[in-house]
Amino acid sequence: MQNESIAILGGVGAARAKLLADAGLETLEDLANFLPKEYRDLTHATPIAQLRVGESALVRVIVIESARDRRAKGLTVTRCVVSDGSETIPCVWYNQPWMSKQMRSGAEVSLYGKAVREKSRIILQNPSVENRAGIAPVYRTIQGVPGKVLTRLIGEAVARLDGAWADELPLSVRERHALCEKNVAMRGVHFPANWEELKTARRRLAFDELFLYQVALSLMRSQGKKGIVIPADDEAADDFWAHLPFAPTGAQRRVLSEIVRDLSSEHPMARLVQGDVGSGKTAVAFGALYLAVKAGYQGALMAPTEILARQHFESAQAILEPLGIRCGLILGSMGQKAHREAHEAMANGDWQVAIGTHALISQKVEFQNLGLVVVDEQHRFGVRQRSALSDKGDSPNVLVMSATPIPRTLSLILYGDLDVSVIDELPPGRRPVGTRIVPEAKRADMYNFLRSEVREGRQVYVVCPLIEESEAMEARPAEELYEDLRTQALSDLRIALVHGRMKPADKDSVIAQFQAGEVDVLVSTTVIEVGVNVPNASVMVIENADRFGLAQLHQLRGRVGRGSDQAWCFLMAEPNERLRTMTKTNDGFVIAQKDMELRGPGELLGTRQSGAMLDGAMADLALLSETHEAARELLHHPESEETRAAIRLAEKRFRRRMENAGMN
Ligand code: ADP
Ligand code: MG
Repeated sequence: MQNESIAILGGVGAARAKLLADAGLETLEDLANFLPKEYRDLTHATPIAQLRVGESALVRVIVIESARDRRAKGLTVTRCVVSDGSETIPCVWYNQPWMSKQMRSGAEVSLYGKAVREKSRIILQNPSVENRAGIAPVYRTIQGVPGKVLTRLIGEAVARLDGAWADELPLSVRERHALCEKNVAMRGVHFPANWEELKTARRRLAFDELFLYQVALSLMRSQGKKGIVIPADDEAADDFWAHLPFAPTGAQRRVLSEIVRDLSSEHPMARLVQGDVGSGKTAVAFGALYLAVKAGYQGALMAPTEILARQHFESAQAILEPLGIRCGLILGSMGQKAHREAHEAMANGDWQVAIGTHALISQKVEFQNLGLVVVDEQHRFGVRQRSALSDKGDSPNVLVMSATPIPRTLSLILYGDLDVSVIDELPPGRRPVGTRIVPEAKRADMYNFLRSEVREGRQVYVVCPLIEESEAMEARPAEELYEDLRTQALSDLRIALVHGRMKPADKDSVIAQFQAGEVDVLVSTTVIEVGVNVPNASVMVIENADRFGLAQLHQLRGRVGRGSDQAWCFLMAEPNERLRTMTKTNDGFVIAQKDMELRGPGELLGTRQSGAMLDGAMADLALLSETHEAARELLHHPESEETRAAIRLAEKRFRRRMENAGMN
């Protein structure tokens, strides 16, 4: 039943089946497992007078001014006015010209939409006409398949499979954690009769997912075999520190010492080093590479972007080469000849330390004796890429580095397969980045400040959030802002734009210009988030700051303040409590903790890292801990049939997903 093709459902021809299959929906089970991304509360209508800005609600209204379309900049804007008998409210739709046919004067409709502030009044934005009642599921859209059709198909699949789900969680686990039965959960998650039912259903499904994920993680870890032993001791580490132009911080020294212990044990190292931006993770990684090379092994350092890889290579030339270590750089953009030479140098041991991007995991790359693998900014890579690099050696030691400070409870759970070290101290002399919230009314003043900073020879980042199309009118897309700054607000300065849709080579060239000081103000989407080091850039402006998670704001802010000048970060937003956290502290862990409390761990990590696994109900820290405990408990009895069943299930469900997590 579960494996029955969706083609048996009404209205699914070959073309539609193909679209659905492209989105991973081929069987009835796939459809039923396609969970709502959110729910609409259609249980009651809200009087217009009681609508709250920023919240979505259902209103029952009569159209009192027919809708009219207006075209502007390739966008169709449709407006009308509706009334619920005591109050009126304008409605607006962007790029939904068909709405004007439905919204004729006198029409009675139920609308569900978000109340937003437009100038001094409140309006309903992009409301949809609702014929449903109760708690209605909303699914992620699939290109080419109308939402109504998808909702119907899912409904049919769920109905057909009702009663047919075998319960896959061990009964003992279900009982101990008071979880409802699988059939109840599937029904409840798609068609909840009330909020309580929904909560019960989501808890059960989230538990499944997280529990099996934990089991899978533990398995990965326990499969660890004996690895390469790199004889090293603290004395050798001290040798390394003695050769650096600066004294290590206490935290750097401690973490390298933890690494020394891992390297010299017979279990391969699998360690995550977390440290705030600027905490000096690179030096620690170089220390580990130094120890590996000194023991006769090769090391590899992989970074997510060419800019970062190049930066690391330059540092390696400054720090490792004077110690007699031969370093090389390999990038995707290099020519074939350079690749061939690099491959040869890695294979014959000529390069003792290879630094590069994904080019390092190309099939052609072979090492003579890879003893240590370092992955920088690891959240940019998937588990599979990490292991693709370590597969180039015979169970080499692995060190991954991340600037996303993740509260310890969470990292334990998420990276069950890694030990964690924290560099919780910044090098001396760093001045915290002065952070201010700037409301729209102060924008002009801020521009004047930017001008004076540039006059002093400093540089500025302006970061815009990525925007979803439906929000096109709310946020300032990078391109628009760039045009505005270039032609008007800051026309006296040298402005450049970099965004995610540019070709990598173009992107790199703009960033290189900025690094060379040929550009005063760099407008960007969040592409600069990853480790770029421009010490002369001392100001960062973050547009629509409220759209970013605190942890992400903190990461962005870390791009400035790397030089000796006082650095500034301006958060463009109306002041609120959440953003005020940023003005009060520069401690990434405090911020990450706060972010997690406010938005849940899923948000903190971004889906890149968690796959879809931690979305929605799964972004629940208490549940994470509970499943972590449950998985450990279960695995304590490896011989029981329940444990073996859970392991089979975890492998089935997560092998592919874990390998793919974070791939891009
Ligand atoms: P991140 O942890 O963000 O990767 P980096 O390793 O890039 O940080 O270090 C940031 C800067 O701090 C670099 O310019 C580096 O040379 C410098 N640095 C690292 N450790 C120290 C230290 N102990 N004392 C002074 N400067 C340091
Ligand atoms: Mg770094």
